Amino acid sequence: MTAQPVSTQQSSIPAEVPATVRASLSPSRAADFKTCPLLYRFRSIDRLPERPTVEQARGTLVHAVLERLFDLPATGRTPAAAGDLVAPQWDRLVTEQPELAALFADGDSPGAAEFLRSAAGLLEGYFAVEDPRRLEPAERESLISAVVDEELLIRGYVDRLDVAPDGALRVVDYKTGGAPREAFEARALFQLKFYALVLWRTRGVVPRVLRLLYLKDSEVCDYAPDADELLRFERTVVALWRAIEQATAQQDFRPRPSRLCDWCSHQAFCPTFGGTPPPFPTLAAPDPLRDARSRPTPPGADG
Ligand code: SF4
Repeated sequence: MTAQPVSTQQSSIPAEVPATVRASLSPSRAADFKTCPLLYRFRSIDRLPERPTVEQARGTLVHAVLERLFDLPATGRTPAAAGDLVAPQWDRLVTEQPELAALFADGDSPGAAEFLRSAAGLLEGYFAVEDPRRLEPAERESLISAVVDEELLIRGYVDRLDVAPDGALRVVDYKTGGAPREAFEARALFQLKFYALVLWRTRGVVPRVLRLLYLKDSEVCDYAPDADELLRFERTVVALWRAIEQATAQQDFRPRPSRLCDWCSHQAFCPTFGGTPPPFPTLAAPDPLRDARSRPTPPGADG
């Protein structure tokens, strides 16, 4: 699919959020609640800190390289050029997020070097499934948002949006995680449908393709949504938000153990693992603008 001229880091958050909007929701946080209500609470209400893992850092790095790769002229988007971007992009990320430096103890240069090599390996996986010289993405790491049900602002970052000359949209999401794919596939598809719903509501076009690129396995998973499905999905998202509101009002977020517990940073506070959640925080009055202008989970950090 060829596409329109590049513009990156666009924001389609409305300049003025309608007065009817009471809250905002990203696909990551919505998926948290679906996966485990207590996980949602820990992340979104208690805001417990999570130290970045090596896997998340690698995802963020690979996403950064793939974004920058498309800054190059089409003929220059080669595997070697992508490899050359790895170290400088890592340096930039560490400068912007100094906590990333703590992933490798002082003097652990073999560990850091292996980390950079593993990121380069994922990029090889990317080139096995796509030729970026034949692509001109319309948008990269684009923040998109829409209001649904008059009250809820839904928003998130799209890794890449391709627009065909006939206006057809293809939403592309890079998956870099090393965890078993089946453990995360439903979450990944939920995320893509979320983006499809935002695009449909803001641009009036149902994306033709939702594409997951699994870089570790060099595999492509395409999904074609339709309007009826997105309408049902919209109802699901609104119902999910109402459930979150109810759980918040009742301060009742229950653990829902699953295979994903293996990747949860908060087992120490989880009753399933013998822990006790912290006291429920006093919540300030909802401020949809505050959340709407903060950055949701960065590209790559969610797998
Ligand atoms: S450990 Fe499992 S059950 Fe407990 S909060 Fe995390 S995801 Fe939920």
